[in-house]
Amino acid sequence: MSADLGPRAMFVAGGTDLFPKLKRRQFEVETLIGLDFLPRQVRNDSAGSISVDAGVTLAAAAREEHLKENFAGYADAAGLVSSPPLRNAGTIGGNLCVDTRCNYYDMTYEWRKAAGFCMKKDGDICLVAPSSPRCWAVSSSDTAPMAIALDGVVMLTGPDGERELPVSALYRDDGIDYMAKQPSEVVTSLRLIGGENTSSAYVKLRRRGSIDFPIAGAAVALKLDGDTVVHCRIVLSAVASYPLEVRAAEDFLRGRKVDADTIREAAEIAAKPAKPLDNADLSHFWRKRMVRVVVEQAVRRAIDQRPGFDG
Ligand SMILES: Cc1cc2nc3c(=O)[nH]c(=O)nc-3n(C[C@H](O)[C@H](O)[C@H](O)COP(=O)(O)OP(=O)(O)OC[C@H]3O[C@@H](n4cnc5c(N)ncnc54)[C@H](O)[C@@H]3O)c2cc1C
Ligand code: SF4
Repeated sequence: MSADLGPRAMFVAGGTDLFPKLKRRQFEVETLIGLDFLPRQVRNDSAGSISVDAGVTLAAAAREEHLKENFAGYADAAGLVSSPPLRNAGTIGGNLCVDTRCNYYDMTYEWRKAAGFCMKKDGDICLVAPSSPRCWAVSSSDTAPMAIALDGVVMLTGPDGERELPVSALYRDDGIDYMAKQPSEVVTSLRLIGGENTSSAYVKLRRRGSIDFPIAGAAVALKLDGDTVVHCRIVLSAVASYPLEVRAAEDFLRGRKVDADTIREAAEIAAKPAKPLDNADLSHFWRKRMVRVVVEQAVRRAIDQRPGFDG
């Protein structure tokens, strides 16, 4: 259906992001293709690997025992999305595909018309960066950065069959065309491959303790040998149009013993590539300063959650 209808149709899973956007005429489509037939299982594949069907709700993922025990950062990220009612309807697949956000775009039709439309919908300029040829809307999924940190792989099903894709390759650095999959491909499941002895943590910054999207966030997965980091992935949320992996900080940590100074230095390095713009909640200067803080907190939490560590 999606291949036949092209841009005249969209998939809908929980509808928690899509329906408000349809009301605000951010999307105008003739047909919605319901995905509620997608399976909703969590499968413990093998040591260190788990598969979560795209139809699993965020609430179910947040309370799933095996996820909580072995992929704590992912369960935490799912449990921090929005609010309880939306987590009961919103799905893992929908959260991976959720639209990028911008204060000038996530507004009613009337507001956008009065302010002047922008290139993401109905207009031809960027209102945040008027001389920019591109859209800088912000990747705002809480679970996508954590799925990347945990070496996540999605299964995609489309007109040409099935294929696997690392979650890190699922996104583009483009606020409008932000997904690298084909529009007719459905995310059917997510496999996390943290591996044994990997610990993970997600720290989210937002104005209120509930409902709000992230305005900065850090997803960290770590493997330690004693006090020495042997594997590490750090991915930032809400500071770019895609989940931003900070390789320089990962390289810095790998092979080092973790102590307060090392963690602080890694967090400084991680914050450098984050370039929040003035298109999300609170001041973008403050958000930039807070990236260092959320990274530091997430690394510390991942260390505290490592297997066998009793605090
Ligand atoms: C008030 C409010 C607060 C929110 N706060 C947060 C937040 O803090 N963090 C956060 O991450 N999100 C937040 N959201 C957004 C949303 O609720 C979640 O991202 C949710 O996980 C979306 O899942 P869904 O199943 O409802 O997706 P839908 O709304 O059904 O779909 C979202 C998008 O994904 C596409 N899609 C859905 N499933 C698939 C699939 N399996 N394959 C391919 N494409 C698919 C749809 O076509 C659509 O483009 C918030 C939304 C609201 C209204
Ligand atoms: S970043 Fe610019 S083009 Fe993109 S949604 Fe915001 S105002 Fe529109």
